[in-house]
Amino acid sequence: MRSLNQITETALAGQFPDISEGVQLFTEAPLQNLMALGNILRQKQHPDNKVTWIIDRNVNITNICLSGCKFCNFYRTAHQEDAYITTLHEYFRKIDEMQQLGGNQLLLQGGMHPRLGLDFYQQLFHDLKQHFPTLRLHALGPPEVVHLANMESLSFKEVLQQLVNAGLDSLPGAGAEILTERVRRFLSPVKCSAQEWLDVMRAAHELDLTTSATMMFGHIETVEERVQHLIALRTLQSEKPAGHKGFLNFIPWPFQDENTLLKEKYGVTNKVTPEEYIRMIALSRIMLPNIPHIQASWLTVGKETAQLSLHAGANDFGSIMIEENVVSVAGATNTFDAPGIRQAIRDAGFIPVQRDQDFRYIP
Ligand code: SF4
Repeated sequence: MRSLNQITETALAGQFPDISEGVQLFTEAPLQNLMALGNILRQKQHPDNKVTWIIDRNVNITNICLSGCKFCNFYRTAHQEDAYITTLHEYFRKIDEMQQLGGNQLLLQGGMHPRLGLDFYQQLFHDLKQHFPTLRLHALGPPEVVHLANMESLSFKEVLQQLVNAGLDSLPGAGAEILTERVRRFLSPVKCSAQEWLDVMRAAHELDLTTSATMMFGHIETVEERVQHLIALRTLQSEKPAGHKGFLNFIPWPFQDENTLLKEKYGVTNKVTPEEYIRMIALSRIMLPNIPHIQASWLTVGKETAQLSLHAGANDFGSIMIEENVVSVAGATNTFDAPGIRQAIRDAGFIPVQRDQDFRYIP
């Protein structure tokens, strides 16, 4: 076994620590050492002391979903009273509100609806773009792409290409949870497998579609499985065609347990402490030298922990809160407006810079 110092040297040289080294760093390195290493690696990639943030708006296309993930309290069956499909009128109203706040990107997420096919999403994207030609659509995610590919008997790449033709600008890394089959079989057996999630992202990278990656941790996974998740992402990233964007950012967040089946029936609660979260941020920076941006999820961990994360490897603060449903329903209650997020970044010792989905600065 290599010493922590030797593993640190590997990371500082920009090389990839392996699985056992990642586990060793996470479980044995003193917090201040792990934070310092994450911070040094972040400074190497982003020496300008800037922390980015974005104004976007999460609108849910539908809450009807056949997946039934045990950690999700958002989904409904089609027959439930409060099941919905968002109307065009609602989108237009919400986009108007967002644009008045200075945002221009819609994060469109929803469930795996049993009947809505590719033509529904193509029409939706087309209608939104026709009404708001400069609007950016960061929409769906690998589970929906796999679901649509199965419904339409198309390849992942064909589905993505048709969505891009209709107006899709970038693909969120939603539905990753933990990318190991053991965890997914228990948490979300109907949803795409880990391999399918990665295959959709591979197809997106071949099309040079901007993507992000996520991880929801702190439920039934082991530390080793968290590290496997990071290594799967970094391996895929290193396979992307030269010059293509691939994953631009990585967003880890702790499982939000309130009102979820996972808590109510299986007794699994979120036990992630602020220290553990900051360790995960630092480990993410160390294990993912080929993914440029690491986002602190202030929505799920709160302002203070997110601010500390900026000293452990994170360089992005995510979006102000206009609307978000899945983690809000499950207990995340933090909020920020634009002045608040800028002040929080300044208070942490950094320069706030507004960005778009491709991490281009907005003056
Ligand atoms: S997390 Fe997504 S896929 Fe799973 S049940 Fe909820 S809406 Fe459906």
